[in-house]
Amino acid sequence: MNLKELAAHIAAEFQKNYGRAPRWIAAAPGRVNVIGEHTDYNDGFVLPMAIEFYTVMAADKRPDGAGIVTLRSTSQPDTATLDLAQTIKPAPPKWGNYPRGVFAGFQARGVNPGGLDVLVHSTVPLGSGLSSSAALEVCTATLIEAVTGKAIDAEEKALLAQKAEHDFAGVPCGIMDQFISALGREGHLLLLDCRTRKTELVPMSDPSVALLIINTNVKHELSGGEYAERRAQCEEAAAKLGVKSLRDVTADQLERGKAKLSEVVFRRARHVIGEIERTLHAAEGIRQSNWPTVGQFMYASHYALRDDYEVSCPELDAVVEIAEDIGYKGGVYGCRMTGGGFGGCCVALVKADAVESISKKIASDYKAKTGIEATIFSSRPAAGATIIKS
Ligand code: ADP
Ligand code: MG
Repeated sequence: MNLKELAAHIAAEFQKNYGRAPRWIAAAPGRVNVIGEHTDYNDGFVLPMAIEFYTVMAADKRPDGAGIVTLRSTSQPDTATLDLAQTIKPAPPKWGNYPRGVFAGFQARGVNPGGLDVLVHSTVPLGSGLSSSAALEVCTATLIEAVTGKAIDAEEKALLAQKAEHDFAGVPCGIMDQFISALGREGHLLLLDCRTRKTELVPMSDPSVALLIINTNVKHELSGGEYAERRAQCEEAAAKLGVKSLRDVTADQLERGKAKLSEVVFRRARHVIGEIERTLHAAEGIRQSNWPTVGQFMYASHYALRDDYEVSCPELDAVVEIAEDIGYKGGVYGCRMTGGGFGGCCVALVKADAVESISKKIASDYKAKTGIEATIFSSRPAAGATIIKS
């Protein structure tokens, strides 16, 4: 569904839920990180793009004039409510904490949108690493902008959304997801410096290429400590090399400091330092529409995540192997796992006119190799959050 169709869909759903038409509609996209994985907490660069899958929210003032916000979602059985007259705090149901945290952020700024009936609907798959959570937060903030008629700076909005995820959902995420959902621009990727928060739109309007997102539909349940362990190893490497973060280390410096690090910590650092460089090179390749080069950096990113950072899994590796088999001749420039790892999605850079044949081949070979059905879709770089009905 494109945005127009989604708006019509949510308006009809709102009517069914609340018995009247919505007054406001806002949307915010999910995202895929094209390259730059596990670099955000090392002060490095990431290069995400907004995808043509969105969270949309429709709202109307409450007919009774009470200062209560009712939030319903087409994907959740439980309704969330919050009282704008009280200090907003986390409360069940769980999903409601994402929008709740955003309302709290506006409350802390003295902004009161007044009582609302709200409906949420999302075409971003939930929990697949395409950041339905950031889409929900940024969409909530955009809806509040529509209701109050006051826009806030897009970066401030992204930070407010991130804070909601930290404080209300309890997820210590970086800034990438909310930044791209708020600041994405159609036909562009976003090169984001996670140290300075400086952003740069990287044009990608060549119609001959597309991004394929391949959801492995697996999520390996780990002990939960893997993310914290990787972070700690990066911090250890930086400390032993005498710098604030791995952003400050070149590949040469790492080689020279090798003796100071354990074998594992050395490999973790090698991924991060290489990935920061690859991300900058890939951005340059995209600016020049040099797709074979961009594709090579994507493969290199995957190998480092698999071998040095050890956050891949057999299913993600299977997708990348299938993509390699299809190869340049079959229209694949590059492929890599995207997101935190241990399941979730791969992203592939492909020739636009081969999207269908590549999708079919990946689906059938992945099924043959793993017994699992993949979900595959293509997207062009989409626009960031928008108010559809003001
Ligand atoms: P991801 O961001 O990768 O999709 P997360 O686990 O970070 O995965 O966020 C998913 C959670 O966000 C869901 O479990 C739910 O609580 C909330 N969420 C996202 N989209 C919606 C939605 N449309 N309706 C209700 N809750 C949603
Ligand atoms: Mg998330």
